[in-house]
Amino acid sequence: MVCSICGEEYTAEKTCYNRTEANSWEAWMKNQEGTCPDCYKKKMQAEREEKLEAERIQHKKDNAEAALNATNRGLPELSGTPKQIAWANTIREKFLCSFRCKDGADEDVRIRFDMVINHVISNHATASSWIDNQNRFRSIMKEAQIEVANKNN
Ligand SMILES: [Zn+2]
Repeated sequence: MVCSICGEEYTAEKTCYNRTEANSWEAWMKNQEGTCPDCYKKKMQAEREEKLEAERIQHKKDNAEAALNATNRGLPELSGTPKQIAWANTIREKFLCSFRCKDGADEDVRIRFDMVINHVISNHATASSWIDNQNRFRSIMKEAQIEVANKNN
């Protein structure tokens, strides 16, 4: 086999159980744009790095958006290192978006949720408390959801 990337000869191997299977596999392989193991490894590595880079960019975008939204919403500024603040802003933004009531929600429900959200937000002004307590904050909101659902039944 000739590698389609570097042009080097390489051998492809496969354990076949009989000659017919081996022949058909050989015929199939001949028509493949194959790559040698080295090039394959490099290709996979490059794809992995590309994906990581895309994630980094998305992450940066999320952080910038969350910081802007925090300012627009008039949320208290968080304290911590720039990296912590960026991350915590994103966590806080997601928290707000997933629990803020949709339009048309019951007035009672909206007030109860806003109260809990505001309480959490005004009591946690350090980036680290958002990073450390994100799961706890979520369960506080879940409890509020259950409480409201029970009241309405
Ligand atoms: Zn190659």
